[in-house]
Amino acid sequence: MNTKDIKTFEERLLAEKAELESELAGIAKSDTHNRGGWEANAGNMEVDAADENEVADKFEEIEENTLIANQLENQLIEVKAALDRIKNGTYGVCEKCGKPMEKGRLEANPSARISIKHDHK
Ligand SMILES: [Zn+2]
Repeated sequence: MNTKDIKTFEERLLAEKAELESELAGIAKSDTHNRGGWEANAGNMEVDAADENEVADKFEEIEENTLIANQLENQLIEVKAALDRIKNGTYGVCEKCGKPMEKGRLEANPSARISIKHDHK
């Protein structure tokens, strides 16, 4: 991969990072004590505690937000790690075999860590 290729991937990763952060900002608040730096919003807790349905709905909503926030957070961690690899000059190298990854692999997923060949989950 040449510098121009890496630059293209970097731009894609930065755009993805901004998108993930704005999505997270909608459902979570920044929390530096957290692994990924975000915590799902509890939302407006002014529910009628006497109304069981309302309380249950509220908990469901929080649970759902937590789930989505965790997914976004994990994606964000991967994107940030890929940007770090660009900085360190190790971007595009398969973590399993240490060889350069297929360009198509990175085109499909710019934050991939492992080559298609070695990605057996
Ligand atoms: Zn590999």
